[in-house]
Amino acid sequence: MATFERTGGRRPDELRPISFEANFAPHATGSVLVRYGSTQVICAATIEPGVPTWMKQQGVKGGWLTAEYSMLPYSTHERKARDINKGRLDGRTVEIQRLIGRSLRAAVDLDKLGQNTLWLDCDVLQADGGTRTAAITGAYVAARLAVQKLLDGGRLRESPLIDSVAAVSAGLFGGNLLLDLAYLEDKDAEVDFNVVMTGQGRFVEVQGSGEESTFSQEQLGNLIALAQKGLRELSALQAAFLARQLLAT
Ligand code: ADP
Repeated sequence: MATFERTGGRRPDELRPISFEANFAPHATGSVLVRYGSTQVICAATIEPGVPTWMKQQGVKGGWLTAEYSMLPYSTHERKARDINKGRLDGRTVEIQRLIGRSLRAAVDLDKLGQNTLWLDCDVLQADGGTRTAAITGAYVAARLAVQKLLDGGRLRESPLIDSVAAVSAGLFGGNLLLDLAYLEDKDAEVDFNVVMTGQGRFVEVQGSGEESTFSQEQLGNLIALAQKGLRELSALQAAFLARQLLAT
């Protein structure tokens, strides 16, 4: 196994520097700019009265949660055209926004949301790998800030949040187990996992694939364990940031 130097001398099991900047989009009910190293995603949570027509038709009670994801044209080295100008969402966008929606639904009791829709808009400002994982971690923080605003304003009587949720990638690169892959690592990784977990330590989703490669059961276990390590740290960082933020407001 070749030894592998990570940018900035990062250890194989080390997250990139993680940070949150609250109220990045002040018109949203709650918002945050989340950074996983050079990857930066604006996550905004907006609560709108009403639920989709299909829910009313099918008599489904409670509220709804939905997510949208996009990469801003200047988020990549080469300009990426907006999906709207191509006339359709690309498959990757659809896959990622559905993943964000599923992940956040694991943290929310939709019954307690009332007849409201919680929108989670995740826009990638700078892409350097792991944009979907940063989007999930940031979307939870934005949702928590939005819920607090609604509780304080009397628009919600109890919090619909039942847990927190965060996500991280783990992969095999040159036979090495790596946590939280940056673009250059992700691009050439043999195996790439995205893992979503709640703050209480329960899995929401595990996406793992060999890219022109395969992995053993032992490697599978090691990849999950590595992701769990990162997720415990991310969950603690979310909690610490939110505690500071909610105390200050
Ligand atoms: P993720 O960002 O969740 O890791 P992918 O594995 O699909 O998602 O992409 C990995 C990285 O590749 C992105 O974070 C970004 O840096 C880069 N990337 C993805 N799509 C494009 C694109 N259309 N143009 C340029 N770079 C892209």
